[in-house]
Amino acid sequence: MEGPDPFHPQVGVGFAAVSAVPVSGLDELQAYAHEVAGCTKCRLAQGRTQVVFGAGNPHADLMFVGEAPGFHEDKQGLPFVGQAGKLLDRLLAQIGLTRGEVFVANVLKCRPPGNRDPQLDEIEACEAHLFRQIELIEPTVVATLGNFATKLLSGRPLGITRVHGQEQETALGGRKVLLYPLYHPAAALYTPAMLKVLEADFARLPELLGRELEPVAPPEPELALVAHAEPAEQLGLF
Ligand code: URA
Repeated sequence: MEGPDPFHPQVGVGFAAVSAVPVSGLDELQAYAHEVAGCTKCRLAQGRTQVVFGAGNPHADLMFVGEAPGFHEDKQGLPFVGQAGKLLDRLLAQIGLTRGEVFVANVLKCRPPGNRDPQLDEIEACEAHLFRQIELIEPTVVATLGNFATKLLSGRPLGITRVHGQEQETALGGRKVLLYPLYHPAAALYTPAMLKVLEADFARLPELLGRELEPVAPPEPELALVAHAEPAEQLGLF
């Protein structure tokens, strides 16, 4: 794989040490990162320096999903290494976490030219990578940073201003997870009011990480039969 190893500690960034995790899961995620490093599914492959797969603990309970690599991420091969990344580190520190304990990825793995917004066909081409990452990492909480990640993973068109801070149980990567939309740190950098909201939403993460998720309820065929039978009986009354 080209670029830095996203699963080893990086100076000044603080990513996970591999020795702390079972080797098998790590191998699978590393193998997948290797595969994605050569991705040519969309036009962004032509302009990138390298694929930015994501980085952190391959068995993290908490996963963050941002939008796309920017200039610095594209050069260094790691997510959130610029100013927004520094804010993300500070927000994590406020809840007693480091980058090495969580996993950080993006909706798009390659930098859009000039940091423009991701386009629909690029998201469609790239989304399988994100879903596979979620399947392999098995987080319990997936925090989406900004509109693109929130809309993709919630499957709903509601914008981040409406849904930030509202956790929602959903099935991702074949398992139940708590989806937790947050403002994007890059947006909060220059808007103090938004930063306050982001900090308040972030402060709820420890509670969400401790929450038991209800297992998916199995279908109840007998109840379904009763429910269908009732209207028929009632019809018979008239
Ligand atoms: N850096 C990233 O890796 N993703 C973003 O969404 C913004 C900055």
